[in-house]
Amino acid sequence: MGNLYYDMNTKRTKNSKLSIVIPVYQEESHINSSIRVIEQVLITNQINYEFILVDDGSRDHSWNEIKSMAESNPRIISIRLSRNFGKESALCAGLEYAKGDMVLVMDSDLQHPPELIPEMVKAWREEGFDVVEGVKSSRGKENPIYRLCAKFFYYFIYKTSDINLGKASDFKLMDRRAVEAWKEMPERAIFFRGMSAWIGFDRKQIQFDVAERVNGKTKWSFVRLIRLAVNAITSYTSVPLHCITLLGIIMFFGAIALGIQTLYMKFFGQATSGFTTVILLQLIIGSSIMVSLGMIGIYLTKIYKEVKGRPRYLVSKCISSKESRSDKLGEDEN
Ligand code: UDP
Ligand code: MG
Repeated sequence: MGNLYYDMNTKRTKNSKLSIVIPVYQEESHINSSIRVIEQVLITNQINYEFILVDDGSRDHSWNEIKSMAESNPRIISIRLSRNFGKESALCAGLEYAKGDMVLVMDSDLQHPPELIPEMVKAWREEGFDVVEGVKSSRGKENPIYRLCAKFFYYFIYKTSDINLGKASDFKLMDRRAVEAWKEMPERAIFFRGMSAWIGFDRKQIQFDVAERVNGKTKWSFVRLIRLAVNAITSYTSVPLHCITLLGIIMFFGAIALGIQTLYMKFFGQATSGFTTVILLQLIIGSSIMVSLGMIGIYLTKIYKEVKGRPRYLVSKCISSKESRSDKLGEDEN
């Protein structure tokens, strides 16, 4: 295929088109007003735009909301995934449908301030940056345990892969080149933040305060966060696997020391004592083997899923009043 997009230079003019990709999951109460707020900012600043709203299999009325928006507004394209695939897959669907010269990814709950959009577009158009990323200057209201876990998680990623995601967010504007490069990454398990850090290009950071959610509640349960964290770590680094080898080496030295002590006891006639040591050893060795196997298992599952090569998402419906786009399952609107 070649590296076509590296030479591809999008013209950066006042008329360049901005695609805004927004994943939507169970946001019926406020999605309409959120889009209107964002749209107002774009109109006031005379930005040429299109919205790609991706319904990630919501079970409430979110789809009906975004469907009617797409029917009445030619600048809105609404896509419905066939089930809940998770935010990362929804973003991926949006990126693949976006046609703009630059693509902005943001949340539907106005936690990413729309007032920053003109500044981001300006950095792209006038300063020539390929990626303009929103960086959290404060993380908003959060539970302290969650904050601590997040800190540890980012520290681990930073130490093992040299990618600093500590303050990164999914609020990001990417040039067409960067989007094409992103789309070229073949993995099935997506971690948007990490993958868009990995691609590089000329980047600019813009600070923002995470606003409070307009309505509804966060979709990230503790279990989902853990799953995201495990996925992110195993996508980025094989350090946990090397830790197993290290553990084995440490235990081997322990084994030599204890072996010498056991033989010494045997030859000097005190071999019956040491029952506690045996139990402790059983427990330590048993549990470290199980943890190690588990860790290998996690990587194995990852490989298994990648090898199966299933699509990252399935689109069941796509509504756009401007042109009828074909969809992946061939279903029509209901
Ligand atoms: N989201 C999604 N699929 C999911 C969970 C969330 O598309 O399975 C979307 C959600 O609609 C929102 C964005 O991802 O636009 C961020 O979600 P949320 O506000 O719940 O996360 P938080 O801001 O608390 O990290
Ligand atoms: Mg949110």
